[in-house]
Amino acid sequence: MLVFGGTGDLALHKLLPALYHLHCQGLLADDNHILALARQEFTREAYLSLVERHCRMHIALADFDERAWAGFSRRIQYFKLDANNASSFSALRGQLDLARERVYYLAVAPSLFTPIVHHLQLSGLATSQTRIVIEKPIGHNLASAKTINTAIGQVFAEHQVFRIDHYLGKEAVQNLLALRFGNALFEPLWRGQSIDHVQISVCETLGVESRGDYYEHAGALRDMVQNHLLQLLCLVAMEAPETYQAEAIRDEKVKVLHALKPITGQDVLDKTVRGQYGQGQVSGHRVPAYYFEKNVDNDSNTETFVALEVEVDNWRWAGVPFYLRTGKRLEQKCSEIIITFKALNRSLFGDVSPNRLVIRLQPDESITLQLMTKAPGRGMRLEASALNLHFSQKAGQAKRWDAYERLLLDTLEGDSTLFMRRDEVEAAWAWIDPILQGWQIYYQTPKTYPAGSQGPEQAQALLANHGREWYRA
Ligand code: NAP
Repeated sequence: MLVFGGTGDLALHKLLPALYHLHCQGLLADDNHILALARQEFTREAYLSLVERHCRMHIALADFDERAWAGFSRRIQYFKLDANNASSFSALRGQLDLARERVYYLAVAPSLFTPIVHHLQLSGLATSQTRIVIEKPIGHNLASAKTINTAIGQVFAEHQVFRIDHYLGKEAVQNLLALRFGNALFEPLWRGQSIDHVQISVCETLGVESRGDYYEHAGALRDMVQNHLLQLLCLVAMEAPETYQAEAIRDEKVKVLHALKPITGQDVLDKTVRGQYGQGQVSGHRVPAYYFEKNVDNDSNTETFVALEVEVDNWRWAGVPFYLRTGKRLEQKCSEIIITFKALNRSLFGDVSPNRLVIRLQPDESITLQLMTKAPGRGMRLEASALNLHFSQKAGQAKRWDAYERLLLDTLEGDSTLFMRRDEVEAAWAWIDPILQGWQIYYQTPKTYPAGSQGPEQAQALLANHGREWYRA
């Protein structure tokens, strides 16, 4: 595995710790090697000490084993390379055993994707024995995504391209598929006749941190909705694939994206909410407003929060709203999908809450089915109870997998089931673009919300107008 951007945040905090865990579980072949690439000058020893310092911060103390680390670090080499410089790639070629399979992981800014694939091609390193992994953001609109995809597609066949969305590597997300397609119970209920609405929330307590530069040009819609939230929506809404194979699954997901009703015209005002955090308190600490963050414009018009009402315009889902919400500096960190079933037509027992299926991805991974049961004791009074499936509690039975571990192993094994195909990325952008344009046409500036709150009031109203509210655990 060649990691471009081997000295960056993604490589040091996510990829190398995940590879270490795979090594410890004996899942890397003896001859799997990792070659880290970046422009800085490092001896191998200096690079290894950098990696160790960072990995120790990201690997649980109990999992860090000195002997295992020594074995893992024997796999790692460092090579100085400038992605914009053709001669760097000729020198790189000289370092490689060209008969070997290779995975190129592009843990670098997207502006380097095109030069890297171009130079890989010119230096003869883009052979049929190779794969390429890229991270979001893949473009900032449909046109730029097409440009990147076309540049990569001129060098690598689609089956060699792995577009990673780490949400898809989460245990609970895969369990959503198991739940839907491995149980007879849910299929008859998984449709508009039985489901009132769906919520998908990805809420963070962190602010923009050191990523102000990038975030100013992205915003929450591009950064989170175009990829993670729409991918989760696809998994909830898709039809059963013919087989559990990459192409069949991706065919079904892309059909959902094509079925999303475009949000245009007046709907941009009625069905979308943009927000930006002001100063406030998060976990007892005062935090500054977004526009005071490092590398952020004082007049910034970038949204750090977005809420949307989305319709999947097909037979199964017509009339069922999907509410999507994501934001920074919110009250609570959580990523969850909530399926709220329709209320009973008539209740024998007074007030009865609707059944809910809550699929939680963060902070812990779990699936909960909320049911009404009889309150213990005399009389017939009902109370809400939960059937819980906590994956952390099952961890004693089998090791819990981190999303990057699973996805990295899949790239080594060439399994693209959990990765996004080109047409998915482009269909998602095709749906996002009109919202971005609508915000400009209608001068939709973000509404300020205090850091540590639930987001702007308008996001509450989006549901309250229909007698609903955002789910709170
Ligand atoms: P980063 O910390 O800025 O790292 C960038 C890396 O690229 C560094 O290793 C840098 O090393 C290298 N680099 C820059 N210019 C180069 C050049 N001309 N030739 C060769 N190497 C070069 O960025 P990051 O946070 O790791 O993010 C990398 C990518 O992953 C971005 O596209 C980001 O959006 C995406 N991503 C990151 C995360 C995350 O958790 N960090 C999560 C999801 C997606 P030198 O300066 O030494 O060359």
